[in-house]
Amino acid sequence: MGGLGILSYKTVAPQAYAAASEVADTTLAPILNPGSLPDSIQLITQHERCQEIFSGNKEALLGSLNPEQAKAVVEASSKLGRVWLTTIPFQPSLRLTDFEVAAALQLRTLTGEREAHCTRCGEANFFGHPEVCLERKFWRAARHGAKRIIGQALASTPGTRARLEPLGHQTSRRNDIQTITLLGSQATGLANAEYDLTVISLASKDARATSLPNQDTDPSRVTNKYLDSVADLTVRHRPRSNLPFHPIVFSLGGMMNGSTTKVFASWKRVMTRGTYNLMLKRLSLCLLQARVRSFEL
Ligand SMILES: [Zn+2]
Repeated sequence: MGGLGILSYKTVAPQAYAAASEVADTTLAPILNPGSLPDSIQLITQHERCQEIFSGNKEALLGSLNPEQAKAVVEASSKLGRVWLTTIPFQPSLRLTDFEVAAALQLRTLTGEREAHCTRCGEANFFGHPEVCLERKFWRAARHGAKRIIGQALASTPGTRARLEPLGHQTSRRNDIQTITLLGSQATGLANAEYDLTVISLASKDARATSLPNQDTDPSRVTNKYLDSVADLTVRHRPRSNLPFHPIVFSLGGMMNGSTTKVFASWKRVMTRGTYNLMLKRLSLCLLQARVRSFEL
C-alpha cells in the first residue's frame, strides 16, 4: 500500500469507470426508453468499490507481516499517526524538515534504519530499535510537547482554565494538566478534571511481550491491551487529588487507547472545530518529530 494506503491508479480506474457507467445507464435509461419504469437498483459508488479492495489489501498485508510490523501499520493508520500527512504547513509550527519527512516515510514503509546494527549501541537494529535504544532517548521529550499543545488548546476554550502541572498536592508528583471550568460544567460541557499524559513506544519490551488469549494476534487489539495496561498503571499511581482523574496514553506512532479516545471526544465537544483540529495536527507533528529525532536515514 506504499505506506500511505493509496490504491494504484490501475486498480482505481476500472472501478471509477464501472461506477460512472452505472450512473450514466440509470440516468439515461428513462430518457432513451420513456416507457420503461426506472429500475430501483442500488448504485455502488466508486468509493464503496475501492473500499472493498482496500480492506482486502489491508487484510492481506497484515497477514503477511510480522507482529511488530503489523502493529506499525495499525499505528500509522491511527488518527494522530496519519494527520501529519495531510497537514498544510501554513504556519511555522506545522512545518516538517526534509529529514523528518524522509524518516517518517521510511517508518511508514516499514523500512526502518539502513544499518543492520545500531551505530550507537551495536545491537541488532530491528524495526523500532531507535525508539528503545538506550543510547538515544530523545523522543521522551514528546510528552512535554504534547502536554503544552493540549494545555494551550484547552486554555483557549471559552470558560475553561487549564493549568499545567498544578501545584497543591501533598506529594511532589503532579498530574500534567488540570482543567477548571469557570462557568460550571453545565455551561461549558467540560467538567473539572486532572489529566496525566504518557507517551510510550510499541517497540518497548513490555509492549512486545503483550499478548492476547486464544492466540488472538489482531495487531490493533494487542496494542490496545498494552495501552490500557499503561493507563491502568497511571490510575493506580496517580497523585492524590479530589478532582476526577483521566489518564491519556499515546503510542509514539499515534495510537490511543479507548479511554483516551473518550477524553478526546469530550474535548471535541467543547472546543471549536478549528482549535480541536489544530490540536490534532500539532500533536501528530509533535509525536512524529520526537520519534524521528534520533533516527538515522
Ligand atoms: Zn541502539
